[in-house]
Amino acid sequence: MGDDEPVAGVLPYAEVTDEAYAVRAAADFTVRQFEFAVQLSGRCPRCDHPTTSMLVDALYRRDSPAAVPDADYRTVLCECEADHPARPAGLRGCGAHWTLRLEVEA
Ligand SMILES: [Zn+2]
Ligand SMILES: [Zn+2]
Repeated sequence: MGDDEPVAGVLPYAEVTDEAYAVRAAADFTVRQFEFAVQLSGRCPRCDHPTTSMLVDALYRRDSPAAVPDADYRTVLCECEADHPARPAGLRGCGAHWTLRLEVEA
């Protein structure tokens, strides 16, 4: 009670995805565009911890061919700082991943 991070911390690590993750992340995440990267920050739709991801140029190309002129879909991983039981050494986050549609400003 009085804690703004409800069940966070008790979720075990699991590499899972769900359509609802993408919907929630699309609504919640802040997207900052830099010249060669995009920074995504918000709360993980699974574990509800703050997470920030950088998508760099190799993954995010604004000059992609005409097939997808104004939007980009990227897989985003939870990279929260919290501990999740059963997480393999060297990894971060709770294992959740989802697809985020990035609007590309010309
Ligand atoms: Zn977490
Ligand atoms: Zn998470």
